[in-house]
This record gives sequence, structure tokens and C-alpha cells, in this order.
Amino acid sequence: MTYFADLHTHTSASDGLASPRELARTFMEYDGLTLDEVLDALEPEAEFSAKLGLDNTQLTGLAKATRDVANHLRTVGKTDHNTLLGTEEMLDELRRLGARERGKRFIVGAEINASHEFQHIGYHSLHLLVYFQDARGFDLLARTEEEARDFVKALRDDHLDLFNRIIAGLNKSWLNEKRDRVNEHFKGQIPPITEEELKAQSKRRAAKSCDPSSIINTANQYVPLVQTDFAELLYARGIGQSPEKVTDDYFARNAVLYVPSTPNQLTVPTDEVLRELNRKNRRAKVRAEIGLAHPAGYVRAIARKIEGDGFYGRRGVGEAFNIVGSAIDTFARSGQIRFIETDYPGYRRKAASSTEQEMRQHLADLQNDREFTRISTLWARQKASELGILASGGSDTHSTEMTPRLGYGFGDLAFPDDKVDRLFQR
Ligand SMILES: [Zn+2]
Ligand SMILES: [Zn+2]
Repeated sequence: MTYFADLHTHTSASDGLASPRELARTFMEYDGLTLDEVLDALEPEAEFSAKLGLDNTQLTGLAKATRDVANHLRTVGKTDHNTLLGTEEMLDELRRLGARERGKRFIVGAEINASHEFQHIGYHSLHLLVYFQDARGFDLLARTEEEARDFVKALRDDHLDLFNRIIAGLNKSWLNEKRDRVNEHFKGQIPPITEEELKAQSKRRAAKSCDPSSIINTANQYVPLVQTDFAELLYARGIGQSPEKVTDDYFARNAVLYVPSTPNQLTVPTDEVLRELNRKNRRAKVRAEIGLAHPAGYVRAIARKIEGDGFYGRRGVGEAFNIVGSAIDTFARSGQIRFIETDYPGYRRKAASSTEQEMRQHLADLQNDREFTRISTLWARQKASELGILASGGSDTHSTEMTPRLGYGFGDLAFPDDKVDRLFQR
């Protein structure tokens, strides 16, 4: 019997929609998923195909494969951004639902923000994935409640300061530069904008936003800010006719207060994070197995940067594969990473659109995206085997309509569970 794993998931402890307990429940509900339920989950492809009168044999095939993955999902890894929050809740819920008795496994990890200077294109944000284990192994369900609690405590003692430093960095640089520019510009006219106000504004926006990716758990200390947060606060101080107008007049690209959010301002450099993690591993009780998240995602982003809108233009994609490839070479050859995330459904759905033309375009985009995912997965696996490093795989689910689903992505993820053990073998 082949079992599967999902080693990349988010909860409301960072920017996911589902709480850690809800994610645990989804994971446990999978056994017994029916074909109809899977077909439902594969909307909007099904709906579009039907409306366009397309043959849905392919879709049924996809749904069957998807159901098989979901029904044999054995291991889940929680990898919230720069935080270990929610670990106990998820573990507790899994235990309550009898995960241990049903042979399930739970790994605690994290996705860490960093920024790397890529060849030719300069700084670009980069995410590292870490999974934790100690001398007793990686599966937190394989130990008693008390042992698991001790593990999480030791994990925090060993690694939390690094996470906190990264969060502080994320909150600091772009925010401060932007706030200083705004306050300088309106000096003497209005009272200066404070950091506390910005945080409160960001949380207000997130709370009323219908975009689930911007729902931020107030427990998480990282507060992403956007241009409109500044615009709202300025408008509240009597500047401009509306927040939208303030955004257009002051914060639009190349407007007077526009500050590009270059990744090197936003994050701690990748080399520094890797050095710190590897240094800690030498004396930590709980060690971090370190890898690179979604290399295909950087290929996609860098190709867009090179190519502009024509993402699937050959020149940009080819060059981007080389640029990301050489970054992986550097990390792997210096022994700083142990794996790359080869299996990853790296695209987002767009909101459903109504006209036939839009639907056709949407379907074509999805097919192009699937093709890109197929090619980039093969490329990443090849890269890993060339360099003698390991492979990881996960959905990167945020439990929203637009993001991939736990375990099977958009129906094209099937990461075998036996590869998990290899990631942790020392
Ligand atoms: Zn990521
Ligand atoms: Zn992620």
C-alpha cells in the first residue's frame, strides 16, 4: 500500500484560514473521502469544463487519483511562517481524534522568510523549510503527551530566538522606511503616524477583508502592511478626498511616497539564516532539518521578472531555471541545505469569472500552470538527485478556495510517505 504525506501546510497561527484544530480535523476526515466529494473540491475546473462542454473523462481520472491520495494520507507537517504557535493545539486535536491509533504521523516545522541575492536579478525573497526532530525521532504522535510537551519546550528553547529575530526584521525595515518618509512629507501638517497605529490598522483591514490570505491571527506577531494601510491613516487625519485617492496620489508606483518593497529590505539574508540554523544544530537538543521551499516558485517569479507579462515565453523561463538552479547548487554544495521541495502544486486559482471568453482563458491558464508544475517538478527532482540532496513535498495549503488542498494540492500532488523517513535519517 502506498501512503502519502503533506509536509507544507499553514494554519491561522500564520496566514492560513483554518485553525490548527481545524486542519487536524480535515486531515483526519480524509479517510473515506468519496469521489463526489473530491469532484466538488476540484471546482472550478469541473464547472468550467461542463459549461464549455468539454469532455470530463480527464477530470474524473484526476479526481480518482486525488481521492486515493487523500484516503492514504499518513503524515502531515505543520509549517507556519516564522512561528511555532498552534503546535500544541494541532497535536492535541490529532490525539483527541485517535490519529495515533490510526497510524498517522505529525511533524512540526516552520517556513522561514529570508532573502537571497540571485545571479543577474538581485535580491528576491526566499523561503526555507525546516522540520524538527530530536534523538527520539520526528513524529510527535509516537510519544506520550508529556514527552511531546517536553519536545516542544526544548524546540522553543533552541530555536525561538531566531524566529523572533526574523519577525522583528520583517516588521521593521520596510515599515520604518515608509513611515519615516510619510511623516517627513507631512511634517508640521498632521501628527506623525506611529507604529502602534499601523499595526492596529493592519489588523482592522485583515479582520474585515474577504481575502482569506490576509486574515492574520492576532496571536501572530508578524503584521504585514500594505500601501492602503498608510492611505487609510492619512485620510483619517484629513488628507485627500478618499483613501483610494490618497493611495493613487501618494503611494502608486513612482508617486512621491512610493517605497518599493525590495526583499533585501524586508528580510534577513538567506546566508545568515542558514548559518545560524546550522550553527545551532551542532548543540541543540532539537535539530532542524533544513531545506529550500518551492524552488519552482522562484523560477515562476523570476521568469515573470525577466519576461514581464509573457510568463510562458521561453527565454524567461529557461533563464529563470538556470538562475534558481545555480542558487540551489550553492546552498547544497556548501552543505547548508539537506533537501529541496520538489513536489509542489505551485499556482493559485483565480476568482471565477463569468464570460465565456474569460472562462476559456482561465482554463487555458490552468492547463499552462499544470504543465509548468509538471515540468518544474521533474526539473527539481533531477536537481536533487544530481546534487545528492533529498526531496520534500507539500501542498502549501492555506485552507482557502484559491489555494491548494491539504495532501493533494489541485489534484496533482502525490508525495510518497516513505520519502519522509529518508528526510530524517541521520
Ligand atoms: Zn513559501
Ligand atoms: Zn508556505
